[in-house]
Amino acid sequence: MAPDSERLLKCGFRNRIAAMTDTAESPAGAAHAPHPVPEPHEAPATTLEGELLRLLSRQSRLMAVPVFLGATLIYAVTRDDADSVWAALWLACVVVILVVRYYVLGHLPQWTSPSEAARLKIAVLLSGLNGLTHGAAVLFFPYLVEFERFIVFITILAFCAGSVSSTAGYRPVFLAYLVPTIGPLAATWLINPGAPIGWREIFVGSLTVLFGLVLVMLARDAFNLFRESFRMRTEQTELSGRLRQALEQSRVASAAKTRFLAAASHDLRQPVHSLALFSDSLSRQRLDERTKQIAEKIARNVDALSIELEALLDVSRLDAGAVEANVSSFDLNPMLARLLAQFSPLAEEKGLVIEMSSLEGATVKTDEMLLEQIVRNLLGNAVKYTDRGRISIRVNEAGGDAYSLELADTGRGIPSEAQQHIFEEFYQVDNAGRDRSRGLGLGLAITKRLVDLLELTLEFTSIVGEGTTFTLTLPRSTAARIRIEEKPPEVTFHELCVLVVDDEQDVLDGMKILLEGFGCEVELAMTTAEAVTLAKRRRPDVVLSDLRLRDTDDGLDTIHQLRALHRELPAILVTGDTAPERLRQASEAGVILLHKPVRPDKLASKINEACVSSQTTKNKDPVR
Ligand code: ADP
Repeated sequence: MAPDSERLLKCGFRNRIAAMTDTAESPAGAAHAPHPVPEPHEAPATTLEGELLRLLSRQSRLMAVPVFLGATLIYAVTRDDADSVWAALWLACVVVILVVRYYVLGHLPQWTSPSEAARLKIAVLLSGLNGLTHGAAVLFFPYLVEFERFIVFITILAFCAGSVSSTAGYRPVFLAYLVPTIGPLAATWLINPGAPIGWREIFVGSLTVLFGLVLVMLARDAFNLFRESFRMRTEQTELSGRLRQALEQSRVASAAKTRFLAAASHDLRQPVHSLALFSDSLSRQRLDERTKQIAEKIARNVDALSIELEALLDVSRLDAGAVEANVSSFDLNPMLARLLAQFSPLAEEKGLVIEMSSLEGATVKTDEMLLEQIVRNLLGNAVKYTDRGRISIRVNEAGGDAYSLELADTGRGIPSEAQQHIFEEFYQVDNAGRDRSRGLGLGLAITKRLVDLLELTLEFTSIVGEGTTFTLTLPRSTAARIRIEEKPPEVTFHELCVLVVDDEQDVLDGMKILLEGFGCEVELAMTTAEAVTLAKRRRPDVVLSDLRLRDTDDGLDTIHQLRALHRELPAILVTGDTAPERLRQASEAGVILLHKPVRPDKLASKINEACVSSQTTKNKDPVR
């Protein structure tokens, strides 16, 4: 049979990371569980041997006092009837071994050499010496009266029982203690020199041997438990290590993806932005029929591209926390009516019916624009993924303080294996070829982010071939009065002086044509310095600046410098940036943000918004 230390190596737990439980070898350690939690300052052992060394070390410290007390008890009962010098000598031996064990075992785990297996052998040796001294107490038996013998006997048996848990049943250390202790104890009953051996002696001697055998079995179970617990700990630690690694990898990958998307979409936005401006200007020209058709096709494609880029930007903005919920109380019905009007023509084209049933005066409290975007995404999907039948929009009571808004379709449904993925970015069912006419797979990813931002709940059920139902739960408003959004007054663009700052000549040219088409007077600058020079000559009514200018030049800086010249100058930042950090900086600066590619109608409405919100529109500073 292989020695125990060898078998330990075969357990296969070497070099694994473990945060193990801790116990130690010592008799009288019966009160201690074999697998206590490691001390916080102790580094967990990585091998089973190392863990055993830690256990033995800890127990040698913990058990020093109880063992000393037990030995003192034996000394107290033996010193009068046996020779007191021998009794004192015995106690001295016990104490010396106790101290040596305390010191050596206490430091064994920290030694770097010899090997752990060799250090375990030192523990075996010390355990043997300990057992020999304790077992030597039986030499006093011939001088003791029965009661004293009984006390010594019970004390040594208690030491033996305790050694099961304090050695975690590790056989070499355990047997090194047990054999020299219980052996002489049983022998004194069975071989009693100078006295007849009666049935009582045979009975007690046999019981002592039996007790020893039971302890051996218990020790085997305890060691199996110790080993199993070590295995589970190492596996658990290994798993959590792998999990941590996987999480870190996915964090790095996600950061790389965000960076890539930001860079790619920024670089795409610039040319698409110019393209959109030129395409809009082109469509305003007098063209022959053939060129007009081509111009319309260009405009449609630029529009589709702009919408896709817009979706990417929405994800970035939501992830950056750059979208704020503007919560108010409003009636759901006008919003639903707007959406119904928007989607009905498309539904009709596909031969679908959209039904709507709502509750009169269903007033909810949330962000109206963002909720509209959520419902638009869901309704858009319902129309897109339904080929025949109907789509229904229903508003119902959902408990005392909520409404449920249900969007059900009789479309193709979502396969169950896809259901857990549909809110992931770019996930599309059955679109391995990435057919762009089906969208980007971002609609529901944006929807989920919006639902989270508004703290709503969205649930869905879907059966393939039968249809899908999305249910939104919306908080009911308790407000007595509903705030009605006032439409901002419209600013006339005629002769409105717009200063455009951009480092790309194409963008400047496109903006000039577009804004002049609105009736504006346009000034162009490529740098902050040029913009400041122009603004000193004539105060613009509004400034439109790109965020990222050449080199270290920066649109935010441009606006600050222009506002230093003309207080509260209406300003709009136009950016192709989607990097969360840049978006956050821009939105924190409190300037109206427009994202490239800019749609002409959006540009017009933002210029309007900027001019209206600034009191300087009418009270202009004197031109310097
Ligand atoms: P997409 O741009 O592809 O519509 P979404 O994020 O909006 O992206 O949706 C993700 C996927 O979920 C879609 O590709 C589609 O397969 C599925 N899906 C969403 N809504 C429905 C619906 N009402 N019926 C069937 N499938 C749907």
